[in-house]
Amino acid sequence: MRIATLTNPEEIVITETEKPVAKDNEVVIKVDYIGICGSDIHAYYGKHPFINCPITLGHEFTGKVVETGQKVRNVLPGEMVTAMPQIFCGECEPCESGRYNICNTLKVIGCQTPGAACDYFAFDSSLVKKIPEGMPNDIAA
Ligand SMILES: [Zn+2]
Ligand SMILES: [Zn+2]
Repeated sequence: MRIATLTNPEEIVITETEKPVAKDNEVVIKVDYIGICGSDIHAYYGKHPFINCPITLGHEFTGKVVETGQKVRNVLPGEMVTAMPQIFCGECEPCESGRYNICNTLKVIGCQTPGAACDYFAFDSSLVKKIPEGMPNDIAA
C-alpha cells in the first residue's frame, strides 16, 4: 500500500509499505479522505512546534472498515467511519474530568504518531466513530 510521509519541510514522499493487520482491539480502515487542517499547513512548512519530521500527516479522515480485530464489537467490516484523533491515557486529571483533549500524555495522530495519509490505516476501535447514514465521506472528514 502507499503511505505519504512528510520527510522534511515542504517535502512529502510517497512510498510502498506493508498493509497493516488488525490487532485484537483494532480496525483496519481503507482511507477515502483526509482533511488538511491548519496544523497540517504549519507542519508542512516546518513551523509547527509539536510536529517533527518524519511524520505521516492526516488526523481528520474517513474510510471504510475492511478488517476488525477479534475483540472489536462496535463496528463491522463495510461500515464507513472516522475517528477521534487524540490518543489519551484516560487516567490523568484532565482525562478524569472528560477533557481528554488536554491529557497530560496526549498524542494526536498525524502529529506525534503516524496519521491516516495512507491507503490502509489501523486504529484502536474504541476511538472509531460511525459516520451517520447519508453523510458524504468527504464532508465527514
Ligand atoms: Zn486539525
Ligand atoms: Zn490523560
